[in-house]
Amino acid sequence: MESLPNPATNIDLLLAGSIHLSEEEQMVHETVFDWVKRRFLPGVGERFLAGEPFPQEFVRELAELGVFGTSLKGYECPGLGAVSYGLAMEALEYGDSGLRSFVSVQSSLAMYGIYRYGSEEQKQKWLPRMTRGEVIGCFGLTEPDWGSDPGSLVTRAEKVDGGWLLNGAKMWITSSPIADIAIVWAKVGGRKSSDIRGFLVERGTPGMQTPLIEGKMSLRSSDTGEIVLDDCLIPEDAILPEAHGLGAPLGCLNQARYGIAWGAVGAARACFESALQYTRERPQFGAPIASKQLVQDKLAAMATFVVNARLLALHVGRLKEQGQATPFHVSMLKRHNVAGALEVARTARQLLGANGITTEYTPIRHMLNLESVITYEGTHEIHSLILGRGLTGFAAF
Ligand SMILES: Cc1cc2nc3c(=O)[nH]c(=O)nc-3n(C[C@H](O)[C@H](O)[C@H](O)COP(=O)(O)OP(=O)(O)OC[C@H]3O[C@@H](n4cnc5c(N)ncnc54)[C@H](O)[C@@H]3O)c2cc1C
Repeated sequence: MESLPNPATNIDLLLAGSIHLSEEEQMVHETVFDWVKRRFLPGVGERFLAGEPFPQEFVRELAELGVFGTSLKGYECPGLGAVSYGLAMEALEYGDSGLRSFVSVQSSLAMYGIYRYGSEEQKQKWLPRMTRGEVIGCFGLTEPDWGSDPGSLVTRAEKVDGGWLLNGAKMWITSSPIADIAIVWAKVGGRKSSDIRGFLVERGTPGMQTPLIEGKMSLRSSDTGEIVLDDCLIPEDAILPEAHGLGAPLGCLNQARYGIAWGAVGAARACFESALQYTRERPQFGAPIASKQLVQDKLAAMATFVVNARLLALHVGRLKEQGQATPFHVSMLKRHNVAGALEVARTARQLLGANGITTEYTPIRHMLNLESVITYEGTHEIHSLILGRGLTGFAAF
């Protein structure tokens, strides 16, 4: 059976050309996309199986691409718009959610945390080196007993002679085993969420350990670890002076969630493209399976999701650039895009039949990665509750 000419052009028109971008935004997307295809994707399946993080030299190359602190202004950061940042995240997660997670944490959690809540000295000291990729950051909010409910965290910071004494443990912290600096969220004084403050803890500080969490079947290209703090003494000026209460870490998470939602578009697109190519080439019952109506129904739904998710991300990105995006917009975006991307990945995996369970093809890697993405930075359910509270006025947490 013959197909109509140029389906590839139609795909590009539908997916990539589905939104209006400035020349600068288009260039950011194409530059990062090109790097991902050229540098990151070769060998990605093998690295995933081996549980190897991506090669160290990629950090410098990522810095040269301008993806660390993309939309921060000053301190040598690129100072681009929120849409450019999002497009970079989309291109990175076309490669792998672990790659995008590493960059999200560096940019939106660690760098943004210092940029938004740090002192001028802290910004001058850390941000230029972080945008150049010379210093890697991580963000420790989650604890072994407190995930969705971070306001209940129990890590404590006590004011003592010569600084702050930190005690507690953080769990599931992206990049903690390799980070040079950690933002640690701890309670000072009381037990209320308003007692939460942020602290900068440098690698090598006595009393701090960052063991790697082994056995992950998801985000295998990103190191995830603990932060264990046992009478860890840090200087007095290690506190983030502008961070008061739970709103501060949530402010960082809101930045990261926005980028994650763009990233999900990239993962979905990669899965869709893999399924499209496979089904066009795989003959069963005398014809490529792409010529079957049930398969086309799935492909149509997947392509529609990718375009929808991109448009929603662009909408929130433009609102963000005008200072009008609220946490509700971001929750809706993260919830919609990640759940939809996971469904696309599962459908793509199914369309590839038995071949779909191997890392030779893209979907199962993305599918496993997205199981983390739907859990971290506010689970799918927590975003439903954030939206529910916004819509009804009742907090149902
Ligand atoms: C790979 C990876 C990387 C991560 N990186 C970081 C990081 O860099 N920094 C960091 O601080 N944290 C990080 N996290 C932690 C992540 O943010 C938490 O896993 C997440 O907040 C959920 O917490 P939890 O795993 O403790 O699940 P829980 O909070 O125990 O939730 C378990 C289940 O219960 C549901 N649930 C909880 N409360 C309710 C409710 N009120 N109503 C209905 N359902 C509910 C949840 O939706 C979920 O399905 C990472 C996690 C992963 C997997």
